Amino acid sequence: MAAAPVTASGLPAPRRVAVVGAGMVGLSTAWFLQEHGVEVTVLDREGVAAGSSWGNAGWLTPGIATPLPEPAVLKYGLRAVLSPSSPVYVPPSANPDFLRFVAGFTRHSTMKAWKRAMGSLVPVNDLSLESFDLLRDGGVQAPTHETHSFLAAYRTADERRTLLEEIEHIHSAGQSIEFDVLTGEEARAIEPSLSDEIGAAIRLRDQRFINPGAYVHALADSVRDRGGKILSGATVVDLVETGTGVDVFTAEGSRETFDSVVLATGAWLGTLARRFGVRRVVQAGRGYSFSVAVDHVPDGPVYFPAQRVACTPIGDRLRVAGMMEFRKPEAALDQRRIRAITEAARPLLRGADLDNRQDEWVGSRPCTADGLPLIGATRSGRVFAAGGHGMWGITLGPVTGRLLAEQMVTGRRIPQLAPFDPMR
Ligand SMILES: Cc1cc2nc3c(=O)[nH]c(=O)nc-3n(C[C@H](O)[C@H](O)[C@H](O)COP(=O)(O)OP(=O)(O)OC[C@H]3O[C@@H](n4cnc5c(N)ncnc54)[C@H](O)[C@@H]3O)c2cc1C
Repeated sequence: MAAAPVTASGLPAPRRVAVVGAGMVGLSTAWFLQEHGVEVTVLDREGVAAGSSWGNAGWLTPGIATPLPEPAVLKYGLRAVLSPSSPVYVPPSANPDFLRFVAGFTRHSTMKAWKRAMGSLVPVNDLSLESFDLLRDGGVQAPTHETHSFLAAYRTADERRTLLEEIEHIHSAGQSIEFDVLTGEEARAIEPSLSDEIGAAIRLRDQRFINPGAYVHALADSVRDRGGKILSGATVVDLVETGTGVDVFTAEGSRETFDSVVLATGAWLGTLARRFGVRRVVQAGRGYSFSVAVDHVPDGPVYFPAQRVACTPIGDRLRVAGMMEFRKPEAALDQRRIRAITEAARPLLRGADLDNRQDEWVGSRPCTADGLPLIGATRSGRVFAAGGHGMWGITLGPVTGRLLAEQMVTGRRIPQLAPFDPMR
């Protein structure tokens, strides 16, 4: 039998890999590992899309996938914390990890740090949509929708200035994003679901959106069709290196040995990754969503940046999402946040039945203090991290899986992943 090819890290290329976490990131990694002929088993303590990959806004928006820490967010965040109806919630008592996160976030909220982080995101943003196309061409049976009317809408032209300035910075970082500046009338002509309160808008071009829950289930189906196993009700509690592989232990009592393991556990990444030397905190930035009937379903996403409310057409309903709540990912859904989003959206949407909400949901953006994901080998050459994408794990899930799978199988250094080294 031919010897297994040896990767640059000196270990044989993995043939059997366990991926922990069946969200967008874990399933994308499993799918792209299969492209290299690797046998995959995906373990999730609940099931497919049980975490933040379900009720999010589903935007595939590389043109605005920017790092979260930036001077304006910090200024806004500090102001917002003092107001009870604000879209940002910080608990009155905080644990040491959260304080470390806030200290790091504050340190990175400078223009200089933002530019550096943005420069790191551009090369992966540029590959993000084509990575979705590879999934489509490889048999993932869920559409990505091109949108001609991705609208950011404001009450006044003055409010719009922040995003126009941000787009200038995005351009100077080398990220392309085409846009049009519109009056309220022009925006309403494109999107009749905007109310008369809207006085200014920006139309973003060439972005896409998906129904994230349906998409991630289609991705899981494709992984299964290609021979992968997906185990629900499998809570990974320990990983032990054996010298020739990694033993994966679950709370349900199973133990199985794999050549390598990928941790793609979203907002819970720290729990297992810390044991392998990953010191970066992954903090849950919780967001809420629900869906409503609308007289006119928009053709594409509608964003109210001043209120931090994101709306996306999901079938014949509109998903309305928002909030940034810094609490434990497993804390219960808090109805006050749903009400805050409802009242923020009410004056801005026309014909939306906001009092008959369905699918009320809370999920956790896995946020890092420097605004960059954690992708690559840990202290162990057999245990990899894939997560911490914050606001952009849907947009960047497939490109993450694609590049990480290549790195794992070839052992080559992938230049686009260098800034995301989990051991940084
Ligand atoms: C309101 C809101 C709107 C958003 N909108 C967008 C958007 O428009 N575009 C975008 O790109 N991103 C968006 N995001 C961010 C995006 O949802 C996340 O970045 C992304 O879903 C993260 O995917 P993931 O696979 O890393 O994590 P998850 O989807 O959370 O998957 C992690 C999985 O790991 C499992 N797990 C955890 N611990 C264990 C364990 N020990 N053993 C086994 N399984 C375990 C969990 O059950 C879960 O299924 C939004 C987020 C929110 C909250």
